[in-house]
Amino acid sequence: MRDFEYLAPKSVTEAIELLARHGSRAMVMAGGTDVMVWMNKRDISPEHLIYIGDLEELRYIREDGGSLRIGALTTQAELASSQLVREKAAALAAAAQNCAGPQVRNLATIGGNLGAATPAGDLILGLAAFDARVKVRGPGGERELSLEEFLVGPQQNSLAKDELIIEAVVPVPPEKSGSGFQKLGKRKAMTISTASAAASVRLSADGKTFDQVIVALGALGPTVMRSKSFEDALKGQSATLETIDKFRFLAGGDACPSPRARRASAWYRCEVAAVLAARAVEDALGAAIGQDFSAARTAKKARGKGVAGCIYSSTVPGFPNPCAVNMQMREDGTVVVQTGACDIGQGSTTVLTQMTAEALAIPYEQVTVYTADTGVTPYDFGTVSSRLTFVGGNAVIKAAAQVRDVLFQAASANLGVPIDNLILEAGMVRDKYDPERAMPIGGAARFAQFALKKLAIGSAYYYPKSSAPDENMQGEPIASFYYHATVAEVEVDTETGVVEVAKLYAAVDCGKAINPMFVEGQVDGGAIQAIGWALREDSHPGLTSADGPPANFNPDFMPIDLESYALATSMDMPEMHGAYVEVPEPEGPFGAKAAGEIVANTAAPAVFNAIYDAVGVRLFDMPASPEKVLKALQDKAEMAKAPTMRQEVGVE
Ligand SMILES: Cc1cc2nc3c(=O)[nH]c(=O)nc-3n(C[C@H](O)[C@H](O)[C@H](O)COP(=O)(O)OP(=O)(O)OC[C@H]3O[C@@H](n4cnc5c(N)ncnc54)[C@H](O)[C@@H]3O)c2cc1C
Repeated sequence: MRDFEYLAPKSVTEAIELLARHGSRAMVMAGGTDVMVWMNKRDISPEHLIYIGDLEELRYIREDGGSLRIGALTTQAELASSQLVREKAAALAAAAQNCAGPQVRNLATIGGNLGAATPAGDLILGLAAFDARVKVRGPGGERELSLEEFLVGPQQNSLAKDELIIEAVVPVPPEKSGSGFQKLGKRKAMTISTASAAASVRLSADGKTFDQVIVALGALGPTVMRSKSFEDALKGQSATLETIDKFRFLAGGDACPSPRARRASAWYRCEVAAVLAARAVEDALGAAIGQDFSAARTAKKARGKGVAGCIYSSTVPGFPNPCAVNMQMREDGTVVVQTGACDIGQGSTTVLTQMTAEALAIPYEQVTVYTADTGVTPYDFGTVSSRLTFVGGNAVIKAAAQVRDVLFQAASANLGVPIDNLILEAGMVRDKYDPERAMPIGGAARFAQFALKKLAIGSAYYYPKSSAPDENMQGEPIASFYYHATVAEVEVDTETGVVEVAKLYAAVDCGKAINPMFVEGQVDGGAIQAIGWALREDSHPGLTSADGPPANFNPDFMPIDLESYALATSMDMPEMHGAYVEVPEPEGPFGAKAAGEIVANTAAPAVFNAIYDAVGVRLFDMPASPEKVLKALQDKAEMAKAPTMRQEVGVE
């Protein structure tokens, strides 16, 4: 980032003076949620950054002279929670609530949204639904602009270089009015609109006809813009859902998204423009007459269920993949384990610690597993193939058996009990036939070390079955299999193609849940990751093409941009029912198999099967984006017409 001068004026007057002095070499910053991103991407390199975020005189929401006056520094969070805005300009409050996530909403301002002037600006759209105006101030005084005058192109506004946005002026709607806001993005939060619409309506005194309708479209043209033909068509008509439905196609005609749009094609945006505009007007009508139409809309969505199951290996198939462990019980009864089996966050160190403690009948707190440094730990094949619980666990059990043998030798000599009669139990070495004859395990380790001059150590190597298949493809390439299944219940919005996972039931057969909380975490985490693949993460553009690599082929398997690679957020999490099944594996440590990669394997096919069940279209190419689903639905409808066409042309 290029060096810049940071300036923090104490008043609006001082800010305007600084702007006048530095002109186009200066950039105003309010919340910085756009400016910092642009500077980081080197889209802009201002010489002077004028931070206005502390100018409290620009932070207010008040009703004054028939208008809501909203200071430029009012944040999205303040707009969303303001009772006044919710009552008088619900679409603007909803727009603010639908911006980004809480962190951004606490910083981002309405002045910044106007200043950025993007066609997808949610607050601009909310303002447009009320035909709001923008008040700006420069050295020569103030002027008030309509949004049409203020927004002159994509990311372009008509502010002079020395002018500051002061406030947004929203006319307070009269009685029998209402407003609505609709946004379609890649996910439910932290998403820039693919397409959006906001509307306000004013009804006649008897509430029967539309007196005035304003419909604004977002991300559907070079700027936020009005759908004048839809507005004009509704004006004077009876205020019913049927009327809205009859004329909504006009909004689709008014939309003119850029053909180079990244978040969805121009075709798709035009298709959904009419739907979103109609829904925004429906919401506005509902608010005006005190009726909620959203439930009826939800009821119209198609629901379906899908199932998928799979089998997976707990070791690396057909490849040697051993794990080694060194273990020592020290003279105080604590145990140190060293292994190259590395924990990368999945919890294997905890699980190996638990298994050591269990094998030696001592508390978990007495065991320390060191995995950090391959310079001092014995060999492990790697954190791959969901193998650490199974392979590392078996190595731990073998090493612990050697430690136990030394402890038994010591206890046998100390207590005078035959080795075969000894057991480890709750921190003690005990005669199983005479439980009173016992000594603490730590005491046995000490006795071994100082009386028998033997260390209580174990060193084990577990080598799972992994033979390559023979010429008849027979053999034992995998030591253990484990299983997973998912049932997904989805809701498909047949007008927009948006698929939502309503419920997800996922279960893994992990043999034995060494740490039940970890297994549950794996099952839930794998499911949400896979829902991302199924519905929104477009990370390998072009790789699915049958015509070879496309122009944007990406050999590094990297996402083209982080907007396409939209990970699911917590808001996208369905009602989740995760479970595990314990069918012990004879070869597994304490019966355990695995609970790793498999957990992400079946949610996506289950979701795709559920889409088929819901709407009868079979998609083969992930993600099932709204655009692909809508296209498939339209193709299906076209195909359904084919028999009629055959009859028409006389072909049987
Ligand atoms: C993760 C993330 C998610 C986002 N999600 C959304 C979203 O869902 N919807 C959405 O609409 N936007 C979104 N944005 C964009 C951004 O948050 C909004 O545009 C926000 O309203 C900008 O406000 P700000 O105060 O941070 O503006 P800044 O970044 O400070 O400024 C933005 C522009 O406005 C100018 N400016 C700011 N204040 C004034 C003023 N008073 N007078 C003159 N010029 C001024 C600046 O010079 C700059 O050109 C997102 C951004 C991020 C980083």
